[in-house]
Amino acid sequence: MQTKTILVVEDNLLNMELVVAILELNSYRVLKAEDAEAGIQIAREYKPDLILMDIQLPGMDGFTATRLIKADPDIGAIPVVALTAYAMKQDEEDARQAGCVGYISKPFQFSTFLESIKGYFLENGSVGH
Ligand code: MN
Repeated sequence: MQTKTILVVEDNLLNMELVVAILELNSYRVLKAEDAEAGIQIAREYKPDLILMDIQLPGMDGFTATRLIKADPDIGAIPVVALTAYAMKQDEEDARQAGCVGYISKPFQFSTFLESIKGYFLENGSVGH
């Protein structure tokens, strides 16, 4: 199986370390950004297979960043999954309206987090936009 690259945009360093550790242990290649602007730049440069986007970020928030990514023809097809501390229905709707394919709420449970990631690849894996 070909190695998938996941961009993680997360300003909380503990969360970042946790997510990176889980993903790398499961053979994903991981790119990191601590704010939305850096995340968009890295997405344009490296075109990851999936983006995990924290919503609460310093400066530009994750929903705005997702809208910009979705509006960019070069990277708009990359699935974006929102990461948010709020397990609220409204957040899920906002995430979808911003163009996210889904939503993972923090704090993560390792097993369900990984299952979610695999699920997004199954949904999007062979679809060439
Ligand atoms: Mn945050």
